Amino acid sequence: MLGIGIDIGGTNTKLVVVNRAGKLLAQDRFKTEAEKGPRAFLKRLGAAVDSLRRDYGRQLVSIGMGAAGDVDPERGVLRFAPNLRWENVSLTGPLEKLTKLPCFMENDANMAAWGAYEIELKRRYEDVLTLTLGTGIGSGMILGGKLYHGATGTAGEAGHMKIEPGGRLCGCGGRGCLEAYCGSRAIMARARELIKDEAAMIRRYAAPGKERFNTICLTNAAAAGNPAARRIWEETGTFLGRGLASLILMLNPGCVVLTGGVSRARKWFLPAMKKVLREQQLKTPFSKVKIRISDDADLGSHGAALFGLDRALKA
Ligand SMILES: [Zn+2]
Repeated sequence: MLGIGIDIGGTNTKLVVVNRAGKLLAQDRFKTEAEKGPRAFLKRLGAAVDSLRRDYGRQLVSIGMGAAGDVDPERGVLRFAPNLRWENVSLTGPLEKLTKLPCFMENDANMAAWGAYEIELKRRYEDVLTLTLGTGIGSGMILGGKLYHGATGTAGEAGHMKIEPGGRLCGCGGRGCLEAYCGSRAIMARARELIKDEAAMIRRYAAPGKERFNTICLTNAAAAGNPAARRIWEETGTFLGRGLASLILMLNPGCVVLTGGVSRARKWFLPAMKKVLREQQLKTPFSKVKIRISDDADLGSHGAALFGLDRALKA
């Protein structure tokens, strides 16, 4: 029995076919091209799924899909996706009609959380919090072995928890959100304020062929001992620790998984993050929680496929 996993991103849409053990059998991707509208997107998605169905036929039993934005998992509707500029787009309905396969949709961070739970942790923990640290910050929770949705499917918007009242402006329009400090764009904005000579940073620390002042460049700078870069990462760890401490107090997870591009700078932000956790007054949840970093860039798509399989086979 195989499942299709789909990850709808702002730039690319990724498709995978995996078996129940999470083994990858096939993958495909195409440009999302959100500006051409949902109808054109569905047509391309349908064609990509059709081609997988030709190869795997009746072995396929489900489709799981993750999309960045506010998802209604009950109705399979993408209610609001700021980076795609789509509103109220029904995705699972048309896809089920086309494929005759049960189709499940969730927020992309929820699918990454399911991927972390099944692939990274092999279901060893029942209560898992996953934070996806990219341009934005998402989170997903597995509580008691089940994906937690909340009342409207919106649970896990950890990126917009206010960690600094009246603080920096966030993409959501609010101030002081976790994402406004620890999302990659926000980290680089803080770095630009502190480090005036961007060109020198690029010259010294950017990866060859990628001459940009980005989090990779900032990580290389920290590794080379640049004090400003180290300070930015340390502050990032402190902000992240503040947000995470609240979440751990609330959920008491057995394991926290950090994933996404920013998590690659772990060496430079984890000590400050862990210091904030150690300084909390209620010690038990912090002394027991395991912190893991996953470099698996496919947690979202693989997690979506496994989630679809789990739901379809339980039904
Ligand atoms: Zn926000």
